[in-house]
Amino acid sequence: MIPVTVFAGRTVAVFGLGGSGLASARALQAGGATVVCFDDSAARIEDAKAAGLPTNDLRATDWSGVAALVLAPGVPLTHPKPHWVVDKARDNDVEVIGDIELFCRERGASGFGCPFVAITGTNGKSTTTALTAHLLRSAGLDVQMGGNIGVPILALAPLAQDRVYVIEVSSYQVDLAPSLKPTVGVLLNISADHLDRHGTMENYAALKALVPAAVEPGGVAIVGVDDAWSRAAAERVAGAGRPVVQISATHPLRDGYYADGSRIVHASGGKTDVVAQLAGIGSLRGAHNAQNAAAAIAVARRFGLDPAAIQQALTTFPGLPHRMEEVGRRGKSLYINDSKATNADSAARALASFHDIFWIAGGKPKTGGITPLAEYFPRIRKAYLIGEAAQEFAATLEGKVPYEISGAMPAAVEAASRDAAASDAAEPVVLLSPACASFDQYKNFEVRGAAFRDIVLGLPGVVPKS
Ligand code: ADP
Repeated sequence: MIPVTVFAGRTVAVFGLGGSGLASARALQAGGATVVCFDDSAARIEDAKAAGLPTNDLRATDWSGVAALVLAPGVPLTHPKPHWVVDKARDNDVEVIGDIELFCRERGASGFGCPFVAITGTNGKSTTTALTAHLLRSAGLDVQMGGNIGVPILALAPLAQDRVYVIEVSSYQVDLAPSLKPTVGVLLNISADHLDRHGTMENYAALKALVPAAVEPGGVAIVGVDDAWSRAAAERVAGAGRPVVQISATHPLRDGYYADGSRIVHASGGKTDVVAQLAGIGSLRGAHNAQNAAAAIAVARRFGLDPAAIQQALTTFPGLPHRMEEVGRRGKSLYINDSKATNADSAARALASFHDIFWIAGGKPKTGGITPLAEYFPRIRKAYLIGEAAQEFAATLEGKVPYEISGAMPAAVEAASRDAAASDAAEPVVLLSPACASFDQYKNFEVRGAAFRDIVLGLPGVVPKS
């Protein structure tokens, strides 16, 4: 845990008692603050009590003695409308902040120059964060990884000289972190997402753009320039005279890191060197992963890793579960779990990465369904449709892609396995990339992916990915 001492002797309200809220409360308490915890859910309040944390109804609390409200990132700050606890804090002139803000203030006060790598973007945050941590660890650096991925930031190991914090930050967290000052600020990409919470695309993009813009003196911004919003963010940082390393997965750059096929190239003043080769690395398939890898490599170079060490470490990156995760092989068939693809855009990344696909799709459908995926239909040998979306997806595929309505995962895996094995494809791919939410049949995408994995690993003759 990182004890937060900057509120020692004062009272801090903590609202939203999930993992990060509980970690914030504990960290504040350990640093000498008095905390008052609350949530709209009675069960969460019981969790906090069981963890030994003081709770009180923040509607009935005297706010005059409260120094700050620490809000969980999932609680609405501005849109669709501020949560009642935010109004309460504002009415009492109490600042509203989040756990990343507490970390930044504590880091500033600690005197330790621990490097802080903040990673954001609409897509690819978790992959890039995990890969960056993996590369830096492989070079023997003392790395702590967390934030929006895995462990809440304040539950990581305490600040210490030269300890590197590699942190995934969401737009919600940025909104609650006015003193964000990373050593390295990575912005991968920006596309429309979470607009219900940020009101407009402009608001959302402005929050994302803060990550590279807020980099501390002596640090560096690393920015993907493949979409107009991120490109504008990079130009603003450069225009302010601050260093920016550009990243592209789609075109060569005069300066920066870009993907040329499966190679990652570093360009400096137009002079180029190949710094890494992604071909054959199963955990980094696809153009989207080239963007993630180029960004992680740019961070690693900044920390002094040489290309040979980076290449070696890339080959041992295990990847993240449920994101084009290689489950195993059975004869010539490859099995891929991409359960995280809960919308068409994400499923497109997976469909673009393979040929001869035996595609398991469906679940709770999203607006637009799979119509936007038409350009990938020629890669699909057959579709196996599950869940509530089955009929709608069947209508979209009609006359274009052979399909069957499998209904549920076990039948889909069985049929896809049979057809893949019997096909003339050299390397048929049984791909779960549902383009749907999971809630009609599963608790969440992780449970859905685990169900697929378990069924596959139970097939006779399957060789699990080691
Ligand atoms: P996040 O943490 O931002 O949600 P993840 O790394 O968990 O991102 O990847 C989630 C999904 O987003 C992947 O399965 C893939 O479909 C897609 N994705 C990953 N990286 C990128 C990228 N750089 N650009 C576009 N889409 C991506």
